[in-house]
Amino acid sequence: PYDGPSAAEIARKRAEYLSPSLFHFYSKPLNIVEGKMQYLYDEHGRRYLDAFAGIATVCCGHCHPDVVDAITAQAKRLQHSTVLYLNHAITDFAEALASKLPGDLKVVFFTNSGTEANELAILMARLYTGSHDIISLRNSYHGNAAGTMGATAQKNWKFNVVQSGVHHAVNPDPYRGVFGSDAEKYVRDVQEIIEFGTTGQVAGFISEAIQGVGGIVEVSPGYLPLAYEKVRRAGGLCIADEVQAGFARVGSHFWGFETHGVVPDIVTMAKGIGNGIPLGAVVTTSEIAQVLTRRCYFNTFGGNPLCTAGGLAVLNVLEKEKLQENAFIVGSYLKDRLRGLQEKHEIIGDVRGTGFMLGVELVTDRQLKTPAKEEICHAMENMKDMGVLVGKGGFYGNVFRITPPLCFTKEDADFFLEVMDIALSKL
Ligand code: PMP
Repeated sequence: PYDGPSAAEIARKRAEYLSPSLFHFYSKPLNIVEGKMQYLYDEHGRRYLDAFAGIATVCCGHCHPDVVDAITAQAKRLQHSTVLYLNHAITDFAEALASKLPGDLKVVFFTNSGTEANELAILMARLYTGSHDIISLRNSYHGNAAGTMGATAQKNWKFNVVQSGVHHAVNPDPYRGVFGSDAEKYVRDVQEIIEFGTTGQVAGFISEAIQGVGGIVEVSPGYLPLAYEKVRRAGGLCIADEVQAGFARVGSHFWGFETHGVVPDIVTMAKGIGNGIPLGAVVTTSEIAQVLTRRCYFNTFGGNPLCTAGGLAVLNVLEKEKLQENAFIVGSYLKDRLRGLQEKHEIIGDVRGTGFMLGVELVTDRQLKTPAKEEICHAMENMKDMGVLVGKGGFYGNVFRITPPLCFTKEDADFFLEVMDIALSKL
């Protein structure tokens, strides 16, 4: 049993000593003291089904024993910085990770976060091409440092950052976008940005396959191959941000970009890569990787032995427990049943996503697509009271984000659906 400080005591300290910018979803924040696979437990021992997995950071399940054992064993043996000495934990994971990527993508740079990974990817694209302009999609999220905040295209996540050389293309959003799912029309904007906003030469293009923070928006089918072609013709590199969609979450494939049939020049990842420990990576070709030999490039902890030992364990668990297959099977089932809920509840405007990266958008008027911002908060609170944690996001904050650990079962999906059904009925 838990004998630590009460939720009220922690909340008081958090208010006094931690950043005032921290937020939570519930009227009374939960005090989560333990995690086990797809479940979280509060200080009273109450169990919650976790359908958000710490914003898709946990892929194998909370505190998966294999991952915990790997980290613990490494912590007892050696914890050090990544550079200076040889250590097999780092090279073993780099080799295993490279084997998961297609084409010539096989050189790995480790980082501590997704933001760092995207900063590095943008830096490499600029160095390699000698150009400066970066194109990203509106409604995207790529990080919170200067370059990535520039590439991020939602006012909610921007301060008065100097947005040097970043252009935001019209979002190929099948539900809210001006051209529906018409990829060819959307991609004209990329071409126009290149022609009217740059010298005609760009450094690169960065995009998620499914926008996570943006509210599980699947980029229109056919868009990425066309956009990649335009960008490459203008000398640019194509960067796939797999921070949320990567690591088997989309089910049908290991990476989100694979669902679009493209091969990027640079792939960035974080979150699921370490099942919750601070780890990120950039994977590129050996030719592009060469640009970082011009000076010293250094990251003290990125890919340290402790995190890479954990990363290797994650890849092994994904394989051993066939979690990609599970994400595909259970995710498809869950999506079908969510479509069923849409028929019953007028408030569900859209159901979308792939595998275990699903979104349910709530609107008070299906024609006008008026965001149901208040309603979603009530429903989330209600679901929490019934033992289910789900995320929300999207520009208007009206989209349920369903991104559970990949060990989520069909029974969990049924329970989730029942609880969501009751919560929506009560609105
Ligand atoms: N890219 C995407 C797609 C993300 O969702 C996030 C985090 N929400 C990031 C990058 C930044 O990752 P981090 O918070 O680890 O810096």
